[in-house]
Amino acid sequence: FEPGKYVADLQTHWAAEGGNASYALLTRCFLLINSTQSRIKIVDTLVNMLRVVIEADPSSLLPTVWLATNSISPPYISLELGLGGSAISKALKTVCGLNSKSLKSLYDKHGDAGDVAFEAKKKQSFTLRKAKPLTIKGVYQSLVKIANTEGTGSGEIKQSVVNKLLQDARGAEESRYVVRTLCQHLRIGAVKTTMLIALSRAFILSRPPGADFELRSQQDLAKLKKEKLAEVWSKPEDIVKACFAKRPNYNDIVTVLLEVGVCDELLVRCGLKMHIPLLPMLGSITRDLSEMLTKLQGRNFSCEYKYDGQRAQVHCDTDGKVSIFSRHLELMTDKYPDLVALISKIRGDGVDSFIIEGEVVAVDQDSGELKTFQTLANRARKDVAIGSVKIEVCLFSFDLMYLNGESLLERPFRERRELLRSLFTEIPNQFTWVKSIDATSQDPEAVLEFFKSATEMKCEGIMVKILDNLPNVSLPDGLTEEVSAVTVVQNTGKGKKKIEKDKYIPKKFGRRKALLATYEPDKRLDSWLKVKKDYSMTFDTLDLIPVAAWHGQGRKSKWWSPILLAVRNEETGSLEAVCKCISGFTDTFYRANVEKYNKDEGINVLGGKPGYVEYEGGHPDVWFEPQEVWEIAFADITISPTYTAAIGLVSDEKGLSLRFPRFLKVREDKSIEEASTNDFLAGLWRKQEEKAPTKSADDYNE
Ligand code: ATP
Repeated sequence: FEPGKYVADLQTHWAAEGGNASYALLTRCFLLINSTQSRIKIVDTLVNMLRVVIEADPSSLLPTVWLATNSISPPYISLELGLGGSAISKALKTVCGLNSKSLKSLYDKHGDAGDVAFEAKKKQSFTLRKAKPLTIKGVYQSLVKIANTEGTGSGEIKQSVVNKLLQDARGAEESRYVVRTLCQHLRIGAVKTTMLIALSRAFILSRPPGADFELRSQQDLAKLKKEKLAEVWSKPEDIVKACFAKRPNYNDIVTVLLEVGVCDELLVRCGLKMHIPLLPMLGSITRDLSEMLTKLQGRNFSCEYKYDGQRAQVHCDTDGKVSIFSRHLELMTDKYPDLVALISKIRGDGVDSFIIEGEVVAVDQDSGELKTFQTLANRARKDVAIGSVKIEVCLFSFDLMYLNGESLLERPFRERRELLRSLFTEIPNQFTWVKSIDATSQDPEAVLEFFKSATEMKCEGIMVKILDNLPNVSLPDGLTEEVSAVTVVQNTGKGKKKIEKDKYIPKKFGRRKALLATYEPDKRLDSWLKVKKDYSMTFDTLDLIPVAAWHGQGRKSKWWSPILLAVRNEETGSLEAVCKCISGFTDTFYRANVEKYNKDEGINVLGGKPGYVEYEGGHPDVWFEPQEVWEIAFADITISPTYTAAIGLVSDEKGLSLRFPRFLKVREDKSIEEASTNDFLAGLWRKQEEKAPTKSADDYNE
């Protein structure tokens, strides 16, 4: 860590009129971030920019965090900019004096609206009025105004705010980032985790005016060795990440951080709260049942049907108010009035407030037959009136995270499940528990039978969850009662004594001893494993972004085929090409795809290869505007001299590619920010290498 890095540089940009942090500071930070691929440098730059804001103008910290994470509110508060691309084009024409032809040629050349704004501003030869320097607060407030403007005349009002932002943007760089922000495609590799890390470090290093918490001086930190520094960072990072996982709203976290800094009180003040969704716990992928059984040796686990529906987090408070959130934390209470009505009926005696989680699945409520995900997807998304519901659903519940004012996250899964199943009332084909069996690795036959029954019931496979914090081993006498995730109570002659649980776990369980049965929001751990039917037929899947294509041959000459697919690099924000795909598409799909990415009409296509795509293996006929995620099955991952995906993670010169990629479906539920990453791909490759001998680059056959 370089505490002073860029601080002086950033400080020269900080102040705008009235002592408010200027947008120039943020622009400078974005530029510095864009000039490097190193995650360490990205974090350092962000830390130092945040420090400047915390110390010089703390009231701008919250807007800074929102703008740097390219959002203005958490997903569960619907605050959409609702700007079409035409608003930006109009503003560029008005402010920079461009005509349609020159604007189009800039778009054709650069593809990215921000880059177009950069060039347009450079060419601008006049000013409409005296520009007022943009401040971070001012830009954020403008975005909020755009989002909140509704009704008649809202188009003009939004347009005038956009025009004003572009007029006031000083120079080409500010224009670039203002426009990228308006398009909600900032392209700096500062995603959520980076921001949380940077916030925690910035607070350790800064002393906000009036704050009474003790902070380390940067000189102290500069003297520390790398390992020691990692230790100093790690606890505050964990605290901030844990807060965000339970309360994913910067409005709350930043406000409390400014009051108390990074400390345990933050955890208390930003814990679980009714009607604010927590980030869901995630499952790790396993290739097949045998890998799952190996991983969970020595543990008691529950195998559950993995239903093909939509994940729902249901909050119900003492007054009976219900909120339902999606996997990505969007509020979908309006989509499911039938579920809202159901919730009052499932609440058993003594249940006051609660948060449960389950999968909403389309069903035939008379026969209980499960319907496909596609059927559920056909249900209207908003403002559904209860009488007009045509696609009936059942909520298959699988977890209980909060009960009567108390968080249950720290309790083992067996206990949470017991509470769920004993305190709530089942209503056949409307509200029930996920079908499950309890097993251990000693019961492969039973697990296989269960897996088969899941696939016969149109489920995607099974979810396997550890039930208890401790492995299934006999403990020394007196060591029985679990009091928390990490301690047990021993009855000694003189009374009860708390002991670190790990001490009693035999070494043969290796790292598995660390697996707890607690609910870990936002974590993908081996305590929840997914075994999908595709995997057990030895096909893995990835969620990839289509970025380019070639004209098809023969019958397919009017269509795009093959299509070039990419993974995301979270650190740099770039898209790394991973394979060309030609199979799994239907003719109908090809036809629709040509309409969607129509080069002649200039729809969703770029003028050339955008700088953020990494691919040197050829010259596609068309470059797509990245906007979709496709689920792709494949047989193997191979080291590739042609593709750059995960380059630097498994080899310095070579990337990874997929053998026999096959299109499965468009992931309508995923945005490109949720596509598979280069890290994830490298992880899958490592797992594959553990199981099978390495395929050399020579084996690679495109
Ligand atoms: P992820 O949600 O893990 O990021 P993903 O979107 O690709 O990845 P899947 O691989 O399909 O999702 O698996 C996880 C999803 O399975 C959960 O988010 C949930 O919606 C669904 N699911 C179905 N049945 C269960 C169950 N019994 N327990 C947990 N999740 C379940």
